[in-house]
Amino acid sequence: MVLDMITMMVMGSFLAMASGTLLIVAQVQYARKFAVSLWIASDFVLAAGLMSLALGAEHDVVRPGAYVFLTFHPALIWASTRLGNGQPISLPILFAGPVAVAAAAMLEPATSVGASAITHGMFGCAYLLSAAFTTIFRAEEPRLGSRWPLGILCAVHGVTLAATLTILNATAEAGAAPSPLMQIAGEFLSLETFVFLLGGTIFVAAITRESREQQMKNKAETDGLTGTLNRRAFLEKGERLLERCRVDRAPCSAIVFDLDHFKAVNDTHGHGVGDAVLEIFTEVSRKSLRPNDLFGRIGGEEFAAILPGADLAAGLAMADRLRLGLREAAVMVRGRAVRATLSAGVSTPGPDETLEDLLRRADEALYEAKAAGRNRVLPASGDRAGTSASVVRIA
Ligand code: GH3
Ligand code: MG
Ligand code: MG
Repeated sequence: MVLDMITMMVMGSFLAMASGTLLIVAQVQYARKFAVSLWIASDFVLAAGLMSLALGAEHDVVRPGAYVFLTFHPALIWASTRLGNGQPISLPILFAGPVAVAAAAMLEPATSVGASAITHGMFGCAYLLSAAFTTIFRAEEPRLGSRWPLGILCAVHGVTLAATLTILNATAEAGAAPSPLMQIAGEFLSLETFVFLLGGTIFVAAITRESREQQMKNKAETDGLTGTLNRRAFLEKGERLLERCRVDRAPCSAIVFDLDHFKAVNDTHGHGVGDAVLEIFTEVSRKSLRPNDLFGRIGGEEFAAILPGADLAAGLAMADRLRLGLREAAVMVRGRAVRATLSAGVSTPGPDETLEDLLRRADEALYEAKAAGRNRVLPASGDRAGTSASVVRIA
């Protein structure tokens, strides 16, 4: 069976329009994202390019013009994947391919065929391989499963473009009948483009949906004021972390923090200043804790942390570091002399102790720290016997 190239291009054009339209629907349903809009634009640009190539293949101006359009297709996909993964796009790079194709078309002698097509193939390949790399290895949200098939589709389409357009055009004589190799290359490119269009639509829509679900999950886990984990998410992740430490036979410590005289901070300086202190403490903890440590806001002005790999001495040292960090950072808040401090209790898990019991013991130590005068860190009573590292530091 020999496929007619003009028919395939017209079909490709309609398929590209249908793909763009489907993505518009997905965009309206799940999330309006500029990155997806660029992908949609790439579909319509491809539709225009294929249609003009199909109708004006013999025309000296329309044909190279169609290749300029066709090169915008991978260029926009490149821009879409970069923006979708939080990377900047450079306009000179976005336009480099289409401009190079236009230049090749102007410079190529009338007798030769294909400099613009081959330039399109090479730039298209570069854009798409870069898009594949970004999608797979520079993903902003690595948990989105659909980035793999989408990245692979981009890479395959890029290599196909470069290889088939080189075969189709490097050996072509103007007006000569296509060789069997050229026929196969043309058919392969058409069919592969169909797969790319369909797969691209499916996986871009899937990524849009997945990222929306991820956003909603993150929102459900996050405390609205401080942006740290809320109580429910902290307890959920804390259970898993405690279990992992147990399996790894690694030490672990839990800290419960409570800001001192916080009601007085609100009463004296206003609720807005109180809120700012909560944000400052979250920021202090973000800077001091390691990536594997867990931190969350478990109550109004109460926070907790679980430090895997930290024994009691390390837990006490970290709690004191955060205490000093807050004391330093919250001397002046929004132009007011707040001098906020905190108290904390630290515990380490017994053999079968639950997270609830671990935090309860840290909480008891915290209240002892309050009773002893505040602005200090104390170990839980059950932990004290085994160490000489109890810390009682006063400002
Ligand atoms: P202590 O040193 O014994 O912990 O005294 P305290 O005043 O901090 O303790 P108390 O439990 O009496 O008061 C806690 C205060 O925390 C009361 C509440 O208004 C304040 N608070 C709780 N959540 C928020 C919040 O989101 N923003 C602000 N600004 N204040 C909050
Ligand atoms: Mg409290
Ligand atoms: Mg308090």
